[in-house]
Amino acid sequence: MAQLLSRLPPVRGKLIEGAPLADITWLRVGGPAEVLFLPADEADLARFLAETPRDIPVQVLGAGSNTLVRDGGLPGVTVRLTPAFGQITADGLRLRAGAAALDKSVAKAAAKAGIAGLEFFVGVPGTIGGALRMNAGCYERETRDVLVEAVALDRRGRRLIAPHDELGYAYRHSDAPDEWIFVEAVFEGRADDPAAITQRMDAITARRESTQPIREKTSGSTFKNPDPAQSGGRSAWQLIDAAGWRGRRLGGAMFSPQHCNFLINEDAATAGDLETLGETVRAEVKAQFGVELEWEVRRVGETS
Ligand SMILES: Cc1cc2nc3c(=O)[nH]c(=O)nc-3n(C[C@H](O)[C@H](O)[C@H](O)COP(=O)(O)OP(=O)(O)OC[C@H]3O[C@@H](n4cnc5c(N)ncnc54)[C@H](O)[C@@H]3O)c2cc1C
Repeated sequence: MAQLLSRLPPVRGKLIEGAPLADITWLRVGGPAEVLFLPADEADLARFLAETPRDIPVQVLGAGSNTLVRDGGLPGVTVRLTPAFGQITADGLRLRAGAAALDKSVAKAAAKAGIAGLEFFVGVPGTIGGALRMNAGCYERETRDVLVEAVALDRRGRRLIAPHDELGYAYRHSDAPDEWIFVEAVFEGRADDPAAITQRMDAITARRESTQPIREKTSGSTFKNPDPAQSGGRSAWQLIDAAGWRGRRLGGAMFSPQHCNFLINEDAATAGDLETLGETVRAEVKAQFGVELEWEVRRVGETS
């Protein structure tokens, strides 16, 4: 570990050895980051990327609302963007947001500026960086629908501007290279009355509170909805339910009784409990219905 720190360039932000990641992910499980880097600003991050030897793994974590960190922790450097990357500014019908800004803050800023179309962000508990990577969305709207362009740093620290149609977006997927760290995005909506936009956001919040276990230690939808042609039109939760896994436990992990595509850390689960339960359910759904469920939750790091 000390050896890793000695190979990293000097920074203006913070480098923290053995930083616990369970504290900063929604599932509240998993081992530490070998080194956690909190960059002071974009120039600090760009220089760090340019000067860090290429054999050292570098990954980025947003709000950790779609990430399962395994119990053995994350080798190499984990970058977490700081509030310096959280600015949100409106200009006409466009909104520029830093990648550390919370999706719900972006939705609220858009509403205040009378920009409609970004309401769905109020229902996604991540950051803009995570939304750009995952093409986050809900209720028939997703990030790509409102994105004009994203700005990223590559592993050499170069600043790249990617128009929305060059990011290879599909359902909960982007083809953007894994090494890219998004630093900001420009969104565009249409004009509407702020009160009407806020009303639609409130409706989304109320709908989610009544249908999803959003106060649990969870990562939201565990699996992507399968291709309807293969699943006979059944969504992931319907297949999990039909396979008999609603509310069933393994160790401290459980598929939520309220929304059974939500895996929850019910009672001091380990990352191993959660992943094993997920894999068990995938195998049963495959055996019973012939449908291969694909993880939506990002599983990272080493098993212990
Ligand atoms: C209660 C609950 C409800 C949810 N509901 C929804 C929903 O309705 N719709 C939906 O789409 N998702 C939903 N999610 C999942 C999650 O909120 C989204 O996937 C969100 O976009 C993840 O953002 P994050 O910042 O937490 O990303 P993280 O979990 O931190 O990371 C997810 C992925 O994004 C990458 N990433 C993060 N930041 C950056 C960056 N700056 N640059 C490049 N890559 C980056 C990470 O490396 C990782 O691969 C839900 C989760 C929870 C807990």
